[in-house]
Amino acid sequence: MARQTGPVCKLCRREGKKLFLKGEKCFTNCTYEKRSYPPGQHGQQASFRRRRSSDYTLQLRAKQQARRVYGVLERQFRRYLTIAEGREGLTAENLLAVLEQRLDNVVYRLGLADSRPQARQLVQHGHIFVNNHKLDIPSYLVKPEDVVSVRPQSRRTQYFRDRRELLGQRAIPEWLSFNEDELSGRVMSLPTRQEVDSLFDEQLIVEYYSR
Ligand code: SF4
Repeated sequence: MARQTGPVCKLCRREGKKLFLKGEKCFTNCTYEKRSYPPGQHGQQASFRRRRSSDYTLQLRAKQQARRVYGVLERQFRRYLTIAEGREGLTAENLLAVLEQRLDNVVYRLGLADSRPQARQLVQHGHIFVNNHKLDIPSYLVKPEDVVSVRPQSRRTQYFRDRRELLGQRAIPEWLSFNEDELSGRVMSLPTRQEVDSLFDEQLIVEYYSR
């Protein structure tokens, strides 16, 4: 499946839950809250039909939700699973940690963007430094002690001047620290399961790939 470029609210309607893909709009003017049935011509009738979900369906949906939330393609997702399997501990929890380590996710978690897609764009456009060097790869996996900061020239742009006003509205997870003056964050450790607010069941994803 290619990367989603169409209306992302359809993805929430398809999954039957809010995936928070549009930043501020998700809290103020959410499409799913107005049309909570699947997209398409027969979506409304489908929502009234009683459906029993098989184990496979639940596992597949959990995997798709994770991919949509983090904006990850299938091949990359499998790669993350391989990394998770290679780490000590529970594969499901490791998988969540790997997804959280993505640079675009860290930029989002630090409050420098309203959504992960917006954070991805900031990274791709060269506004983000890692350890004082420009890094424009959203899928880069940060490691403990990495410093993620806004490029000095970019700090003066209107976007980041406006952004400063919004900092502090969202809690920064404990595995990251953030310096508001410098617009820079440090990775203190890898995230633990308790430190990640996840919208899907990561155990179902591992079951999906173990079939
Ligand atoms: Fe999903 Fe946000 Fe669109 Fe609501 S506004 S349907 S949460 S992407």
